[in-house]
Amino acid sequence: MYLNDVAALSLDLDDTLWDFDAAVRGAETMLYHWLLQHAPLTAAVLPEPASLQQYRQRMAMLRPDLVDTPARLRKASIHEVLRLAGEDPALSERAYAVFYAARQQVTFFEDALPALEWLSQRYPMAAISNGNADLDMIGIRHFFSVILFSRDLGIAKPDPQIFHVAATALDVAPAQILHIGDDWQLDVQGALSAGFRAAWLVRTAQGTTPARMEGAADAWLTLNNLHELCLMADAHEHPVCGQGSASLSLPSYFS
Ligand SMILES: [Mg+2]
Repeated sequence: MYLNDVAALSLDLDDTLWDFDAAVRGAETMLYHWLLQHAPLTAAVLPEPASLQQYRQRMAMLRPDLVDTPARLRKASIHEVLRLAGEDPALSERAYAVFYAARQQVTFFEDALPALEWLSQRYPMAAISNGNADLDMIGIRHFFSVILFSRDLGIAKPDPQIFHVAATALDVAPAQILHIGDDWQLDVQGALSAGFRAAWLVRTAQGTTPARMEGAADAWLTLNNLHELCLMADAHEHPVCGQGSASLSLPSYFS
């Protein structure tokens, strides 16, 4: 089986454990109301919470150098909103803190926490993210022995180097680490290029196209949820996270 001599796991965070868009939209709504209250002139440039997303996208085009550091990009876009509205741009620091705290209020996919609980009792685990989560605020730091963010390292997925840093920190050979993530390029291709194994988490049907196009489907796993991974890791147990999973149909190359 693909998992036979896997000695450690690494996991992506956004869209692997929680719905990233929902978290960011929620945080933008909080930020929007905070701005209207503390910098009321912003109402003129922010017709709705989604306007904050548009300013962020515009800033990403103007300042591609900020795209790899989400905090700086977001702060720059808030700064711009305040400046355009005739409010004090210095408020952007406080406004960002409101956004950042709200962005950590994630809604986990229902399989995520039971799977983290179960898998972390069996494997050392690393988190590898290009995003801006705070695992202490989210409350899942204890599941991971290694936590790597591109914002801290200056190396982002799919660069194999960030996976090599994870392997060194886990003290496990790349070939014995399974990386799990939702993004075909960042997670699957990145992990494979670093000599890791890879599990592509496809929670929605439309995501399956690249795997079919690339062929060689036995080079990686495709998972629909994290319960499947628990089941594959030890189908003989009846894990907490595997409850109800007896009815899961696994692709034939899993067995
Ligand atoms: Mg992701």
